[in-house]
Amino acid sequence: MSGNPPIIAVFNAKGGVGKTTTVVNLAVCLAAFGRKVLVVDVDAQGNATTSFAKAELPRRGTYDLMTGRATLAEVMHPTFIDGVSLVGATDDLGIVDVELAVSSLQQGRLRDLIAAGGGELDIVLVDCPPAIGAMTVNALISAHAVIVPANPTPFAHDGLMRTWHIVKRFRSTLNPALFVHGVLLTLADSQQEWAMEHVMKAELGDLVYPVRVSHEPRVFVDAAGHGLPACVFAPASAGAREYLSLAEQVLLGEPRLHRTVLNLAGNPDPVPAASRQAAENALSAWHVKARDMGLLNQTINIPSLGPALPPPVFAPEATPHRTCSTWLLVAVAVTGAIFGAAAALLTMLG
Ligand code: ADP
Ligand code: MG
Repeated sequence: MSGNPPIIAVFNAKGGVGKTTTVVNLAVCLAAFGRKVLVVDVDAQGNATTSFAKAELPRRGTYDLMTGRATLAEVMHPTFIDGVSLVGATDDLGIVDVELAVSSLQQGRLRDLIAAGGGELDIVLVDCPPAIGAMTVNALISAHAVIVPANPTPFAHDGLMRTWHIVKRFRSTLNPALFVHGVLLTLADSQQEWAMEHVMKAELGDLVYPVRVSHEPRVFVDAAGHGLPACVFAPASAGAREYLSLAEQVLLGEPRLHRTVLNLAGNPDPVPAASRQAAENALSAWHVKARDMGLLNQTINIPSLGPALPPPVFAPEATPHRTCSTWLLVAVAVTGAIFGAAAALLTMLG
């Protein structure tokens, strides 16, 4: 697609629900289907950046773009995945909120900056932080659609409802064309989470994607430890299959996205995507490429999970838990005695 590429912000007002993981793996899977994808990391944590750029972190990125210090072409880096480029988070991004707040925050600036230099791109995915700072506001004003990853737990449900209200506020004020592309259930595996998944589906209906991402720490956390997208680290994993299915959902929604971008009534036909088999082959080819580059052997700061730990064994008389409880009881008893004595003394004096 030429001109304005569709921009999807991946956002949830709660942290740790799989936003960054979704951006990174969805970008790779869309590229596996033949799309040209740009990932913009607007989270100062920079996790999307380190998922691609382990070998060499970009020196200039979102901060330089947003503050007018560089153009999109100057900050857009290719990654080792054909078809995925990155505008990364650098250390300066942590202060961009403050700088943009005190200078004139140009609303929708990110969209304009991408439109000015993103003619070759098919789709842009923006990894948002959970907080509503200047960068999140800019991303939600610039985006045409939002994907909301949510894990089906009670706390995450509250976060999802908060996210819902925030998106509704943006729709009614700053970005009326913004739509929720879908809610992606992530990291779900226990009984309670299944129950919560039913609640979320009952509340949100078809907005919940028919694909969910299962909880697979050995794949996702280990992949993060290697600074690689999970679907490249383990292309045969359930997670890789699930993110390919999410990419298919995004491809299905492309006509609506393009209508929103172009503000058209018609139904522009997107370029046909590669087959599922071709996409799976592309993931396997990138895995081999990562192996040949030595990326599967090294880990970044986070240690690999390694083999499963044996269950902890505590001696029955001296568990840390019991020792703590005993000291707590003593502390409560002594405090109570002091207060009791003080009260008695006051009563006598009074
Ligand atoms: P967010 O961007 O919303 O803060 P992340 O994508 O960083 O969330 O995910 C939080 C943590 O959960 C990370 O350590 C990530 O590796 C892990 N994670 C994400 N998805 C999965 C999954 N499907 N199974 C297991 N761990 C996951
Ligand atoms: Mg994140």
